[in-house]
Amino acid sequence: MKILLHVCCAPCSIMSIKKLRELNHDVTGFWYNPNIHPYMEYRSRRDAFRNYSKLIDLPSIYKDEYGLDEFCREVINNLDNRCKSCYAKRICVVAKYAKEHGYDAFCTSLLYSPYQDHEALKEVCYEIAKAFDIEFYYYDFRPYYREGQEEAKRLGIYMQKYCGCIFSEEDRYKKRIERERIKEEIDIEWEKYKKENQIEDLKKEF
Ligand code: SF4
Repeated sequence: MKILLHVCCAPCSIMSIKKLRELNHDVTGFWYNPNIHPYMEYRSRRDAFRNYSKLIDLPSIYKDEYGLDEFCREVINNLDNRCKSCYAKRICVVAKYAKEHGYDAFCTSLLYSPYQDHEALKEVCYEIAKAFDIEFYYYDFRPYYREGQEEAKRLGIYMQKYCGCIFSEEDRYKKRIERERIKEEIDIEWEKYKKENQIEDLKKEF
């Protein structure tokens, strides 16, 4: 089968490509991820995939669009459910391209990550496949997650620390931000209490 594989990043693409190739599919990579921010992060991920695709001889297409403003405008009123529209935005472009350029099906490396909402992603892909009259090639790559991560490390491929959008970067630090906020509040209260009760800094003794 001639499959157009949407690639969200190089580490996620490793096992996705390997498994599709093992089944003798003719795979082409398709880079389209306007959800990755800020720009230097976008560039690192795009270039990591560019280098990896050359290494494994994977023909690839780049729809190279950085989209912070547009992405934020689209999701800002529904931040809690932003992932579904983020999947749809990317998959629509992939499915349309696949249909117009004679591919048999499309697939996505997002199916590799256990951190994605797999069921929502699947649903979006099937809906879009129907709308564009092209097959969605479903494959659960998640069981190969560890193997893919090990291979990415071995090859020294850039590995990101958060999903992609600026909101997911904040999520990553949310717990730390909350701890710092509580600590700050306690310090302020303690200073107030010391002043009111004329206490020396006893905190140091504990
Ligand atoms: S968390 Fe990931 S999938 Fe969800 S909106 Fe952000 S970039 Fe897209």
